[in-house]
Amino acid sequence: MNDFLDGGVHGAVDLDGSGRSAGAASAAAAGGTDGARHARQRPGTTRTEAARDVDVLVVGAGQAGLSSAYHLRRTGLEPGRGFVVLDHAPRPGGAWQFRWPTLTYGVVHGMHSLPGMELADADPTRPSSEVIAEYFDAYERAFDLPVLRPVDVHAVREGDDGRLLVETPAGNWATRALVNATGTWERPFWPRYPGQQTFRGRQLHTARYRGPEEFAGLRVIVVGGGASGTQHLMEIAPYAAATTWVTRRPPVFREGPFDENRGREAVALVDERVRQGLPPLSVVSVTGLPSTDAIRRARAEGVLDRLPMFDRITPDGVEWSDGRRVDADVILWATGFRAAIDHLAPLRLREAGGGIRLDGTRVVADPRVHLVGYGPSASTIGANRAGRAAVRDIRRLLAGEPVAA
Ligand SMILES: Cc1cc2nc3c(=O)[nH]c(=O)nc-3n(C[C@H](O)[C@H](O)[C@H](O)COP(=O)(O)OP(=O)(O)OC[C@H]3O[C@@H](n4cnc5c(N)ncnc54)[C@H](O)[C@@H]3O)c2cc1C
Repeated sequence: MNDFLDGGVHGAVDLDGSGRSAGAASAAAAGGTDGARHARQRPGTTRTEAARDVDVLVVGAGQAGLSSAYHLRRTGLEPGRGFVVLDHAPRPGGAWQFRWPTLTYGVVHGMHSLPGMELADADPTRPSSEVIAEYFDAYERAFDLPVLRPVDVHAVREGDDGRLLVETPAGNWATRALVNATGTWERPFWPRYPGQQTFRGRQLHTARYRGPEEFAGLRVIVVGGGASGTQHLMEIAPYAAATTWVTRRPPVFREGPFDENRGREAVALVDERVRQGLPPLSVVSVTGLPSTDAIRRARAEGVLDRLPMFDRITPDGVEWSDGRRVDADVILWATGFRAAIDHLAPLRLREAGGGIRLDGTRVVADPRVHLVGYGPSASTIGANRAGRAAVRDIRRLLAGEPVAA
């Protein structure tokens, strides 16, 4: 199978093959019990939409959405009429539920618990997809968070009476404020190179990686200098006939601990960009790669000997302009992800620089909208903090107080 040719390139990926709208009816039924339903006629339309009023709507029930929901609940908003969380995944777990089984809990680094409930004593040999899905499930129950799933938010647009209209196949909501916490997993970024369509082998993105066994005996090129790329190489090398690593820039291996100061510096760099309305940088471009024992070993064994980006893809592999070539059966694109925010397009939040300008988590162009888990808060600890900050700001908005700092 060639994911590049089958269309899973830039659009949302149906990661579990289930189709997201399958459970819309059940979600509609669940959602129908919350909040008031009334008919609304939007200007310029002839349709009468039924929309449920809610004060705050959270899109996404990953780390960022659950952290926000926790703080909304703590500040006294009632589930249902006060706030609701919509998520189009079939189960609790955010994007973690879709990550590959060999990404065990011991392999992920710096995973922070959600506020108010520690994830303690998790077995490091179990897949993160299971550990974190179970934890999120328990968390939603413990705090009685109103997560409706699977509900796919198709679009958020201007509604009536100063509200935002949130459109889903399970019906619409009219909300006073929106926390967008939709992560990046569903927007795999797949760069284009000349000849890409001609490759006779298989191309896949990290989003479809399921572990190393399927690459046994194959020649694999891994593209990308981030944590996923290095993890894929270290896993695949013992199985594959050959591995080749190519990255755009020489990787920077970070010695020493990634302490709070370094974390703060990295966040400040990304924060500065989104304050200017530029697209956020990739995490690794500001943090570098950790030098763990496994990484040091892989470097010593030559598994992490990196080549610069090739210039073109051929039917049999890749080529550089200096005549060098590497034949391959598989190209694995570990080239990262972008923010999954297409549903916000009707609000026209993007700046000329291509990003969404934020002040903290608040969208400068529309103070009703907060992006949590975006840019500087795209980490588990960042999502925790951003959820709290967004809720503080939204409470001011709901109370009619000035929100700009
Ligand atoms: C391979 C990998 C490993 C990582 N490891 C770490 C780590 O060790 N430590 C760390 O801090 N960070 C790590 N990260 C980053 C990590 O993913 C984030 O820190 C955090 O988990 C993201 O949480 P989130 O809530 O922003 O997004 P997600 O977990 O992606 O949650 C988004 C949710 O939104 C839902 N959604 C999306 N679009 C819609 C829509 N239109 N309608 C309805 N629902 C929607 C999805 O179903 C999903 O449940 C890793 C990332 C990757 C890719």
